[in-house]
Amino acid sequence: MTGGRRVLIVGAGIGGLSAAIALGRRGWTAEVAEVKQVNSTVGVGLNHPANALRALRALGVYDEVAARGYRYQGIRRYAETGDLMAVFEPEDPPDVPFQISMTRADLHDILTGAAREAGARIRLGVSWRSFAEHGDGVRVTFTDGTTGTYDLMVAADGIRSPMRTHLFGAGHDPTGTGYACWRMAVPRPPGMTHSEYWNGPAAKATVIHLNQNLMYLLVVEGVTPGSPPVRDHMAERLHARLAGFGGVIGDIRDSLAPSAEAREDRSGDIHWAPLQEVVLPAPWYRGRVVLIGDAAHAVAPHLAQGAGMAMEDALVLADELGPARPVPDALEAFMARRLPRVRFVQDHAHAILLNEMEGDSARKAAFAAGLGARQAEITRVLAAPA
Ligand SMILES: Cc1cc2nc3c(=O)[nH]c(=O)nc-3n(C[C@H](O)[C@H](O)[C@H](O)COP(=O)(O)OP(=O)(O)OC[C@H]3O[C@@H](n4cnc5c(N)ncnc54)[C@H](O)[C@@H]3O)c2cc1C
Repeated sequence: MTGGRRVLIVGAGIGGLSAAIALGRRGWTAEVAEVKQVNSTVGVGLNHPANALRALRALGVYDEVAARGYRYQGIRRYAETGDLMAVFEPEDPPDVPFQISMTRADLHDILTGAAREAGARIRLGVSWRSFAEHGDGVRVTFTDGTTGTYDLMVAADGIRSPMRTHLFGAGHDPTGTGYACWRMAVPRPPGMTHSEYWNGPAAKATVIHLNQNLMYLLVVEGVTPGSPPVRDHMAERLHARLAGFGGVIGDIRDSLAPSAEAREDRSGDIHWAPLQEVVLPAPWYRGRVVLIGDAAHAVAPHLAQGAGMAMEDALVLADELGPARPVPDALEAFMARRLPRVRFVQDHAHAILLNEMEGDSARKAAFAAGLGARQAEITRVLAAPA
């Protein structure tokens, strides 16, 4: 670690590691406390739209991301009947590709390496137990009994953020969207270039290329509020959920079929989670403790913006703090810059999600007719600096 002001970052996920990189490069001494015992990530893949790629470039890791990910070539949309409805092949913006997708494990690996290079110390299997502000510092006691004093605490502890509950109460717990998502990595058939989106009888399925060898299957289904999480017999359940799909989705379903024993072997690779949102009113800080990423604003995944927003938070925070600006001033400026952009993303992602749930076909069609203009507006707004 180097000298300079000291920051404790809670959570070594996308936002926390990005904050460690961005602040480390501005002369801060960054310490990251991650509650997991192992340096790993949960989930399968991520899309990075252009604004997220700009954030990755600002973090100094764009070249590695481009080398390990898959550059988007477009998407083919299929009806429930198997008929091809539309092909979308967007033009790249001048500075970055339209989109790159990659495995979460690769991104985690790249961000961890960059955070260490920026001087961060990453502590695993440890979190804060208590903290108190005094003067212009925060004194923290950790779960392993150690203590430390910091100029700033950044909580990047994810959608179920214990820090959010501690600072703001349980009234801002994640809210269900009425949807849940199955996720699984599958082999990428050679020669398949485009991602595919399929409407099905009981769910919607998408495959996205993650690298030369892997694709990412996402299956979105409606859930009844309060229904218990799906944890057992994952392959069997996903197989049933994919009944009626054709094409590549049908092939993936059939690969889950062979024998009950083989299916259970694959169950460990399948993730199921309800899709939830967090809309924490501003400001996202109390004193010298600030929330970033999903802890403050988990967003429906319909615009693939959660990771991008977390990385942008980290960059804007570091930009406003610089090496020497007083923390209270910087936090106020951070909030003013982040709130409109994050709410814009959350509102549009939520509207798209609601439309998917829409039962009235006339309203659904009216929404679909305006989707092109909506997408153009989102691209225009997010092309502006964060
Ligand atoms: C189905 C689905 C698909 C998605 N697809 C995309 C996509 O394509 N593109 C995209 O940009 N985003 C996507 N997202 C959203 C994206 O995954 C999140 O927005 C992103 O991971 C948020 O990063 P974060 O750092 O805030 O939180 P996380 O990545 O969740 O990291 C939080 C970290 O904090 C740690 N932690 C928790 N509690 C403590 C504690 N008390 N002490 C210490 N550490 C703690 C956790 O172990 C974890 O390591 C998707 C989300 C879902 C659910």
